[in-house]
Amino acid sequence: MHTETTKRGLRRILDPARAEGKRIAFVPTMGFLHEGHLQLVDHAKRHGDLVVMSIFVNPLQFGPTEDLATYPRDFKRDSAIAQQRGVDVLFAPPADDIYELGRPAITVVANEFGRKLEGHFRPGHFEGVLTVVAKLFNIVQPAVAVFGQKDFQQCVLVKRMCADLDFPCEIMIVPTVREPDGLALSSRNVYLGVKERQSAVQLSRALRTARERYAQGERDPRKLVEAARAVLAADPAIQLQYVELVDPLTLNTPEAARDDSVISLAARIGGTRLIDNMLMGDA
Ligand code: AMP
Repeated sequence: MHTETTKRGLRRILDPARAEGKRIAFVPTMGFLHEGHLQLVDHAKRHGDLVVMSIFVNPLQFGPTEDLATYPRDFKRDSAIAQQRGVDVLFAPPADDIYELGRPAITVVANEFGRKLEGHFRPGHFEGVLTVVAKLFNIVQPAVAVFGQKDFQQCVLVKRMCADLDFPCEIMIVPTVREPDGLALSSRNVYLGVKERQSAVQLSRALRTARERYAQGERDPRKLVEAARAVLAADPAIQLQYVELVDPLTLNTPEAARDDSVISLAARIGGTRLIDNMLMGDA
């Protein structure tokens, strides 16, 4: 595995590979790798000849009161795991290599889409995400990029950015990887204390409850959301921020739930903010 810490160094490796006709598959991450990230790598290996993973904790997507300073980092461990799983090139730049001129004057803004769901609670978050993804796509120039369904709105917005701004990159989405009890894997799970970890499992339980009601024939989005809300309300340690059932293209609530509708939520448990979502039609 090659490790590169600058855009210039990375281009020196990738330009000849691309010229030889190699298909670059890209997996962007913020590191502190877990099995969720690694399944993106597996997927990338199946769809490309050269797998590039980035590890970059992007300051631009964190709000002033968010966890940028404490975001978990362990580069040595990440590097070993990435190599073991078959990453060909690891790109781990410092912030001043990515943002050479400081805070960018020109950014990618998602307008209305960026203010729904997560965007309402994390103003500016998707501007930071889309700006860094656009930059990374220009640096890596991948044929395909792989993202996790875990960050559902991010998937929707990145796909839409590629369509609206004509990035020549195919976006592939991998299902959420979960602990045996249902908790979605997340680098932020390390923040959870023992009690909080027990509460965290209720997030996936709530989503599953809504999905079960859908499987039984319920199609009213309000009733499905209510079913999830009831599970969450039973645990006082869970401070729910939102739970919504939305169409995956418009992010609006449909008249009636369908197999491709997504129920999505965010909650705080102690000092940790967690997100999760499920598709109604998934068994
Ligand atoms: P992050 O490092 O949290 O920014 O995540 C990097 C990529 O991994 C994103 O595309 C995430 O959606 C994806 N990811 C994070 N957690 C999971 C998970 N539990 N299952 C699948 N993909 C995930």
